[in-house]
Amino acid sequence: MSKIRFQALAETLNRKPIAIEENSRRSDLFGKNVFNESTMRQYLTKESYIGVMSAIEHGTKIDRKIADQVSSAMKEWALSKGVTHYTHWFQPLTGATAEKHDAFFETIGGGMAIEKFGGNQLVQQEPDASSFPNGGIRNTFEARGYTAWDPTSPAFIYGTTLCVPTIFVSYTGEALDYKTPLLRALRAVDDAATAICKYFDKNVKKVTSSLGWEQEYFLIDKALASSRPDITLTGRTLLGHSPAKGQQLDDHYFGSIPTRALNFMRDLETECMLLGIPVKTRHNEVAPNQFELAPIYEESNLAVDHNSLLMDVMNKVASRHNFKVLLHEKPFAGVNGSGKHNNWSLTTDTGVNLLSPGKTPMSNLQFLVFFVNTIKAVYENEELLRAGIASASNDHRLGANEAPPAIISVFIGEQLTKVLQELEGVSTGKLSPEEKTDLKLNVVGKIPDVLLDNTDRNRTSPFAFTGNKFEFRAVGSTANCANPMTVLNTIVAKQLKDFKNKIDVLIENDGLKKDEAIFNVLREYIKASKNILFEGNGYGAEWEKEAKKRGLSNNKTTPEALKAKISKKAISLFEEMEVMNKIEVEARYEIEIEEYTLRIQIEARVLGDIAGNHVIPTAVKYQNMLIENVRGLKDIFGNNYQKHAKEQLKLIEKISEHIEAIHSKVDEMVEARKKANKIEDIEAKAHAYCFDVKPYFDEIRYHCDKLELMIDDELWPLTKYRELLFTR
Ligand code: ADP
Ligand code: MG
Repeated sequence: MSKIRFQALAETLNRKPIAIEENSRRSDLFGKNVFNESTMRQYLTKESYIGVMSAIEHGTKIDRKIADQVSSAMKEWALSKGVTHYTHWFQPLTGATAEKHDAFFETIGGGMAIEKFGGNQLVQQEPDASSFPNGGIRNTFEARGYTAWDPTSPAFIYGTTLCVPTIFVSYTGEALDYKTPLLRALRAVDDAATAICKYFDKNVKKVTSSLGWEQEYFLIDKALASSRPDITLTGRTLLGHSPAKGQQLDDHYFGSIPTRALNFMRDLETECMLLGIPVKTRHNEVAPNQFELAPIYEESNLAVDHNSLLMDVMNKVASRHNFKVLLHEKPFAGVNGSGKHNNWSLTTDTGVNLLSPGKTPMSNLQFLVFFVNTIKAVYENEELLRAGIASASNDHRLGANEAPPAIISVFIGEQLTKVLQELEGVSTGKLSPEEKTDLKLNVVGKIPDVLLDNTDRNRTSPFAFTGNKFEFRAVGSTANCANPMTVLNTIVAKQLKDFKNKIDVLIENDGLKKDEAIFNVLREYIKASKNILFEGNGYGAEWEKEAKKRGLSNNKTTPEALKAKISKKAISLFEEMEVMNKIEVEARYEIEIEEYTLRIQIEARVLGDIAGNHVIPTAVKYQNMLIENVRGLKDIFGNNYQKHAKEQLKLIEKISEHIEAIHSKVDEMVEARKKANKIEDIEAKAHAYCFDVKPYFDEIRYHCDKLELMIDDELWPLTKYRELLFTR
């Protein structure tokens, strides 16, 4: 084994698990470092408490005086916990979280200093924003951006810093972050859904969108991970032969969690508890060293913040435990990748989950309205939904027979399919009394029983109904959930708005009763959106053919998928729902397409490097050893040597072939890259990287992996898959 590998492995095997002491109950720790409702009650005056709560619940503005009171209370609370700094915490379009810490400390002259945090500092900041991606927005407009307090996500303490969740916008008001459009989409879905709920219950004043994400990840020992330049620089392995044992035995999934990993998880969970992230579930995933973490679902904005925060906390806690967390969608070829299922539902302020069938035919009708409208929304906007989860890393996963395909379809289960079929048969216009009774008793009335045994879950579906929520499974593990959640909530909002308009017309102009109108429109929608429903195997090649016939999109790569974001239809949708204007939509498109190019560019460079200065020199070294050996054999056996050196000679030849292939492929890749780099148009450039540069990755890898199998293990410099995946 090579020196680097030996050292990394020795370090790994010598590690003792860091013991975790847990003296406190989780519920006692929960939210301890969050400026939540109970802390606010304790620290705020009644007036400012009411002000903040009303901002949270009804989106009212917080005036200067209240902001001053809140900031001073936050400061007092934070100082009592040993905090020294504060930061506006936001999610720029890099996908990571951003923070710039300022001390509370301020001098007041005369050699004296105080701790200060005023309303001004709480409400608004102007970070130097020029290094964040902006898709040209700030070039066209004002050079600076600002962050503004989002009171709907509570401030929290991380380390010794008070973090205030904020939005990040340009001076002209364009969103430069993930949160701003999400908040707008959540307002849009609230408005549209509340208006429909009023058909059923006049008391409903607000509808909240909920999100429960399930974060998958790999946990690799730090020493092993850092011995690999590809993992360090790209978050994934660019080469490496599959180990003799992979995940064939399925012995990892739900198996007992290794002690070191478990201690990491417990530590992570404690941090999460303090930060108010309600994590609940942990288990091993399918691949070796792969795990999953899931919280109790929350209001979508908060859930998005919590997931972003979690990804950051995971990295920090992992480092304490000498691990590296790999959030990449496909860190290892040949073993399962990681995703982040987004479980989504809508709930009224009267406590009704609109995607959960009720106890009465009327509440079931309400369920059907939201159920069918969601399906229709997905049908109408499948391509946009696919665009919302597109990234260079997620391209490895979608359609790779382990994750949902790049085709978006909806799974609803056998029983609900039957319910929709029956509803489809409803006659047009006014209904006869018999038909109404039949619908109430036999179709709508039967739903709760039906759902009880609807446990049949199709894991191959990208968008599945699972009893009381939809599960968007195609989201990647590195994603900021705000992106897909903005799309989903916007398309559902638009669909609900159109639905309401139709119903109102039928009631007012055609004199239909409310439930008649609803049945009529549902029937029409079910007919119209049938093509999106698919219960079969989403991994199969058959489905690709069938989906094509149905006219569903199948965009396999990010450059192709992203295009849907800037279609006329998408822009007018976002504008109509006041989620993003044209400039914002186009800016995001630019950022994402450029990010794609950059990622592939970095991978191409790293691969060229490793192939050129790790793999080839090692191959040459080994080949020289073989040549030396053949020479020796010649000395001993004279002309007869070939008989004894047969295998060595074959190997020498093969190694030469692989070296040659790697050389020429790397050269060709570099040429393709140079050509791509000259392209000005960002879209054409991304296409060049996708279709002209990226295809070399697999070819180069093929030859490198073959060499890995031939070359003396002592010499091979790169930590192997079996070491990365099976060392605990
Ligand atoms: P799995 O999909 O692994 O079988 P579950 O379906 O039990 O797991 O739950 C997965 C996630 O779904 C959890 O984060 C959970 O909090 C969330 N979830 C459960 N109910 C809802 C709901 N009504 N709305 C949104 N998320 C939900
Ligand atoms: Mg799930």
